[in-house]
Amino acid sequence: SRPVLEAEHLRKEFPINGTNPFGAKKVVHAVEDASFALYPGQATALVGESGSGKTTIARILARLYDPTSGTIRFRGAPVKLKGGAAALREYRRHIQLIFQDPFGSLNPLHDVRYHLSRPIKLFGHARNQDEVNEQVLALLRRVSLSPAEQFIQKYPHQLSGGQRQRIAIARALAVRPEIILADEPVSMLDVSIRLDILNLLLRLKDEERLALLFITHDIASARYFAENTLVMYAGQMVEGGPSEEVIQTPRHPYTQLLLAAAPDPDRIKDQEIGLSTIPARGEIPSLIDPPTGCRFHPRCPHAMDICRQKFPPRTELGNGHWTNCFLYNGITARRMSVPMR
Ligand code: SF4
Repeated sequence: SRPVLEAEHLRKEFPINGTNPFGAKKVVHAVEDASFALYPGQATALVGESGSGKTTIARILARLYDPTSGTIRFRGAPVKLKGGAAALREYRRHIQLIFQDPFGSLNPLHDVRYHLSRPIKLFGHARNQDEVNEQVLALLRRVSLSPAEQFIQKYPHQLSGGQRQRIAIARALAVRPEIILADEPVSMLDVSIRLDILNLLLRLKDEERLALLFITHDIASARYFAENTLVMYAGQMVEGGPSEEVIQTPRHPYTQLLLAAAPDPDRIKDQEIGLSTIPARGEIPSLIDPPTGCRFHPRCPHAMDICRQKFPPRTELGNGHWTNCFLYNGITARRMSVPMR
């Protein structure tokens, strides 16, 4: 199917106070040249450690940040990145963000009815108060909070973490979006209810044909959860494609490292991917003064001179699987034998 959202060459720099030793203004290079697409009815996991730029990507897509450069297309049409309030409001109707902390995103002074009626009223899908009420109840049932009549008058502090996240999901659905960006939606919840919330998101994705961007640091969950996987390292998108491909046959040395460190019994064995030389834990480099070229080169056992000079171009590996790594570039194709299974 055709993508509902396409991002091309997104870059984001944040200016910060101070200058570098050469007198230039300091900037944080948070996202460097990220391109990807989201598809209706499919989940895409955006995987990376904290500080890899994945939340910045979500905030750019939600238009909370302007990208420094790059293009976003919604249903094939470029999104006006400097558009006025009306254009922004129209766009936000289609794309909703769910945050990590469901408590922080709900106003403690207001009840559930308020949280869910507001978007319905703002975005005009109801003609009168009765219809608003009906839709609020329907939303509560869609996220399996029943009896809905009881939940409608509860305040955030009367709800459990999981129930609050269900309210946040219901609120996102209230505007009938086509895209939901979920930023680590279960990481602050009790382990015992994480799967319920993930399954709820998956069910809604199928029922509504939502494009779901699921931001996570846990690559093992991506296989369970998402049709597609994108991997970020230090602001650069390094690998992507169908989850089956990316997780069964990871090509980028960083993806291989992540999988080797993932607590998943099904994971590929270390000796198969030959990564015992990389320490499982490593620091994400500073994004103020990131390594040149491929930002993974200081940790990569296969690093070559060219890796320090240039960011590798994207290489298509077939079946929609791609990576940005010089090991797979035409010039060094012979080296493919090293990290492949
Ligand atoms: Fe390693 Fe070079 Fe590939 Fe980066 S581009 S992952 S440094 S081989």
